Amino acid sequence: MNAEILAVGTELLLGQIVNTNAQYLSEQLASLGINVFYHEVVGDNKVRLTKTLHTALDRSDIIITTGGLGPTNDDLTKEVIAQAMGKKLVLDQTSLDRITQYIKKLNIPMAKTNEKQAYLPEGCIILPNDNGTAPGCIIENDKNVVIMLPGPPREMKLMFSSYVKPYLERKSSTKLVSRVLRIFGIGESELAQRYMDLLENSVNPTVAPYAKEGEVTLRITAGCKDEQEGLALIQPVIDKLKSEIGDFIYSCDDELMEEVVVKKLAEKNMKLSCAESCTGGMIASLITNVSGASKVFEQGIVTYSNSAKMQYLNVNAKTLEKYGAVSEQTAREMALGIKNASQSDIAVSVTGIAGPTGGTAEKKVGLVYIAVADSDGVSVREFNFTGSRDRVRRLSCLNALDMVRRRIK
Ligand code: ATP
Repeated sequence: MNAEILAVGTELLLGQIVNTNAQYLSEQLASLGINVFYHEVVGDNKVRLTKTLHTALDRSDIIITTGGLGPTNDDLTKEVIAQAMGKKLVLDQTSLDRITQYIKKLNIPMAKTNEKQAYLPEGCIILPNDNGTAPGCIIENDKNVVIMLPGPPREMKLMFSSYVKPYLERKSSTKLVSRVLRIFGIGESELAQRYMDLLENSVNPTVAPYAKEGEVTLRITAGCKDEQEGLALIQPVIDKLKSEIGDFIYSCDDELMEEVVVKKLAEKNMKLSCAESCTGGMIASLITNVSGASKVFEQGIVTYSNSAKMQYLNVNAKTLEKYGAVSEQTAREMALGIKNASQSDIAVSVTGIAGPTGGTAEKKVGLVYIAVADSDGVSVREFNFTGSRDRVRRLSCLNALDMVRRRIK
């Protein structure tokens, strides 16, 4: 089965809104094993919408439209599609009752135009809107399936996950099961080189890499009859990767680095603290974004100036004078300082030059020292990142969290 996504709305063409619906639907369809061959955007114009629809009906099995189901006259998706497929629009009393109820709950008067939303193509499958007024619908004929969804993302997504996804799953005989591995510390090209065979020749499961800043994601997908069979096909690939790159894999369940760190700390009943300079609190923010962080996060402090490093972290004035604020020695003392002050089990510190200004001949922009201290002592790593201030800061955070992750026994 192949599909096409047709977004309707002049504001999309004007660049006033971004077509996030197409992105969401493409992702969802890919996970269902349905190929998406085309994305189309068309304005609220009857002639052009009709023309685009005919092209889509010709080349795609499934057409999913979003938008244009509203109560006003320029909302014409349903009308155009019903006409093109030879269907009349008929009143659906259940939908009208739902719309009336929904508007009553909002405590606003119901406009006469809202009734238009309860007129649906005869013989269609009606998709209730649990987050708004406009119902969606599915029209089937011998050749095509046309699925109409509302434009607002919160309405569209709920309708898709509650009604369309189960419908498409029923239609397709094979199920797709995926596991997502997150890898940190090996670049995509190195991984591709080492596992060229696995990446290029895998058929079932397929292995698809995706590189993000500083990390690589591998999606392993099996076509199968059920979840159990899918996982059985996937597991040997995970085992092989684990035996070869082991620790570089930080999650087999698509978790974020900070989620893994919080989970591991909680498992070991350990408390973390951090002292940040160039990351300005980003590490603390990432950690506290994770639900349950209060059980493992003791404290974080941003010490930007030398005096703050001395006052709150007990960094020695002589260290700062001799080696500078961005140095292995300062990072070490910062980590020990926050560990002692907070009495936490493990502490991490970051000091570096995020740029674009502030670099010197011997200490260039992107130079960052990260230290981790625990009961076994302190280890410090030097990094030389490239790119924007934002990138240097984000890579510093990821590496700091990765160092903590590796240190938790
Ligand atoms: P309504 O009943 O709210 O009128 P509708 O189905 O008629 O719904 P539109 O009027 O086309 O939908 O769009 C409503 C809003 O939904 C838009 O203003 C926009 O905020 C959002 N929207 C529409 N299409 C998209 C899209 N493709 N991607 C992201 N957002 C969208």
